[in-house]
Amino acid sequence: VSKGIGSAVYLAQFFVAEAVNNGGTAVDATAGNGNDTLFLARLVGEGGKVYAFDTQAKALQITQELLKNNGCMERVELLQAGHEKMRKLVPGPVDAVMFNLGYLPGGDHSIVTQPLTTLKALGAALELLRTGGRIGLVIYTGHPGGREEAETVEKFISSLNADIFKVIKISFVNRAANAPVVIVIEKDGA
Ligand code: SAM
Repeated sequence: VSKGIGSAVYLAQFFVAEAVNNGGTAVDATAGNGNDTLFLARLVGEGGKVYAFDTQAKALQITQELLKNNGCMERVELLQAGHEKMRKLVPGPVDAVMFNLGYLPGGDHSIVTQPLTTLKALGAALELLRTGGRIGLVIYTGHPGGREEAETVEKFISSLNADIFKVIKISFVNRAANAPVVIVIEKDGA
């Protein structure tokens, strides 16, 4: 993952990292090429647990390979399932949930995350989150359907109770209008 504030993935990881405890539990809602799964697996450590979702077998194979090469496979459960099933498949509470929406880089660009399932998964993630836990989302708008998905997510997070959920949005001010956006949600720790 490229470092620095020009990378949406770096930014999402930066804000999520603080919430993930050694020995804790985290969820990668969109495993893809496995970068966020590995990131979370390193943070939870040997005694922790990461649940990684993807609907594509290809993505999970790539993720598995990456985890094996880095000695982190034992602490990760790979789930070939839609993240909208998260509430049933993940025992809470969890420290963090990461979403990197859109299509699998290097894969089939027609298989993309969808507004309604993303919303369902996000709702489940908010429920699963422990107090003080964080959700990180990277949202892309350059592909077909991306703008609608971003609008659906932003409408939903705008309606969250501000006493319970702190929500921030980071956008790249001097880049193209379809540059990615990062959202971070924290469940109130007070
Ligand atoms: N975080 C990944 C990485 O580090 O490489 C990139 C994720 S990629 C942008 C988005 C992934 O979401 C794709 O691999 C796609 O198959 C997956 N996806 C699409 N719909 C999904 C769903 N309903 N549940 C879980 N994953 C889904």
